Amino acid sequence: MSTGTESAPQQERLAEIDLSLHLLIDGELVAGAETMPVVNPATEEVIVDCPRGSVRQFDRAVGAAKVAFRSWSRSPVEARRQVLLRIAEVIDAHAEELAAVLTAEQGKPLADARHEVAGTAAFFRHVAGLEVPSEVVEDSDERRVEIRRRPLGVVAAILPWNAPLLVIAFKVPAALLTGNTVVVKPAATTPLATLLLARLVAGLVPPGVVNVVTDANDLGGVLTSHPDVAKVTFTGSTATGLKVLASASRDLKRVTLELGGNDAAIVLDDADPSTVAAGIFRGAFWNCGQVCLAIKRLYVHDSIYEEVCRELVALAEGTVVGAGVEEGAQMGPLQNRMQFEKVRAFLADAEEHGRVLCGGEVAGRAGYFVAPTVVADIAEGSRLVDEEQFGPILPVLRYATTDEAIRRANASAYGLGASVWSSDLERATEVADQLEAGTVWINKHIDVAPHIPQAGAKHSGLGAELGDVGLLEYTQVQVLNIDK
Ligand code: NAD
Repeated sequence: MSTGTESAPQQERLAEIDLSLHLLIDGELVAGAETMPVVNPATEEVIVDCPRGSVRQFDRAVGAAKVAFRSWSRSPVEARRQVLLRIAEVIDAHAEELAAVLTAEQGKPLADARHEVAGTAAFFRHVAGLEVPSEVVEDSDERRVEIRRRPLGVVAAILPWNAPLLVIAFKVPAALLTGNTVVVKPAATTPLATLLLARLVAGLVPPGVVNVVTDANDLGGVLTSHPDVAKVTFTGSTATGLKVLASASRDLKRVTLELGGNDAAIVLDDADPSTVAAGIFRGAFWNCGQVCLAIKRLYVHDSIYEEVCRELVALAEGTVVGAGVEEGAQMGPLQNRMQFEKVRAFLADAEEHGRVLCGGEVAGRAGYFVAPTVVADIAEGSRLVDEEQFGPILPVLRYATTDEAIRRANASAYGLGASVWSSDLERATEVADQLEAGTVWINKHIDVAPHIPQAGAKHSGLGAELGDVGLLEYTQVQVLNIDK
């Protein structure tokens, strides 16, 4: 691992951005009931005090969304498409500002932040081109039966802190295209890019159609229990997802839950370590390992175990770790202090139960930095293997037979993603068929696109996002049955 060097122009760019941000409620940019500090995870310094919403403000936002639903849900779908396209345009036009703010609050390297912003615009644009389906299932002398997809009402979109803008794009365009209105709640540690986006879209959507209200990680329950919220779309941890589900079930709100994962990757004995190592490394350490779909357990056949470990260590040691604004930084800090402390506990567990080959905490500088850490000779029963680390520590587990690897990979309550690495596609597919996960990749890990649905199995989620399947989750089936 090496560290990056400060880039003065990037710092200045942030200083040029107007960070006097506001909540967006009923088309108006309003101050929060209070303020709260937002910390730069690379420096531990406060970036700015940002507005913090109150119960009343959440209530007002839901009320405005409910009123706006009446006309938005009846507006021509063509008009809604145009709004999504205008949002995509404004994101592209302000990409540099959004990326700078995202890097400052989230920590990811500026290049990755730019990529996230571009992806956000692309997802809005993709959804703008989708059709809301309707189908005639019978048209006879007796009757005409049509299946239509009606919007649900007010959608509450609750976001995590690892990819705040992209997760908005998983949810908001699909909700809007199908005729719903939304109240967005960002995570308490990453509200800034979302509020900047709120400022940009405020003039593009009719009042009340999109509302953005922040909290200090304390008011999510107001949305999930609100009688006027029809659906909750939530991305976050499984523990919180269970609370969301319990709360939303009281009045049968629709829910989509994208939750945690403990993705296993299986490297078969015919894989070439030097060919697969880069893809595995990226799959495990991208965004500092803070990706729901990151590789969190790596199963490697005994015959190539040491070689795969060596390749991963070489990649880890060649990674430039630094603040997202530093020239050449490839991996930033963990996003917040709580996650940093969690990852430190995983490091301690790794030292106790495994062989730490490289990495560990970065000493001698401010910020929540942990270098890419590869841990060998560790097994199930340790926290690092059994739990979701959500950070840059990869346990590498040894296996002897393919059946054993499949069994161990499946022995998790999670089922978000998985991958198989092999030079034999047929063999890899046979293994993939036996893995209990919503997505299984072959010779890659983490490949997300707006037309590819994502649906967690087991404790990793409920329902799906993205693609045509994801779009339908924002609708209610309505049968129109006409007598002839
Ligand atoms: P988190 O569950 O702590 O918080 C997520 C959001 O829920 C935040 O906005 C938070 O304020 C809100 N919240 C907290 N308590 C709530 C409550 N009682 N009711 C309603 N909302 C509440 O998750 P996090 O730490 O921000 O994100 C990391 C987790 O998210 C990891 O487990 C990761 O795997 C998961 N994640 C999953 C996906 C996916 O698509 N499956 C994507 C990204 C992250």
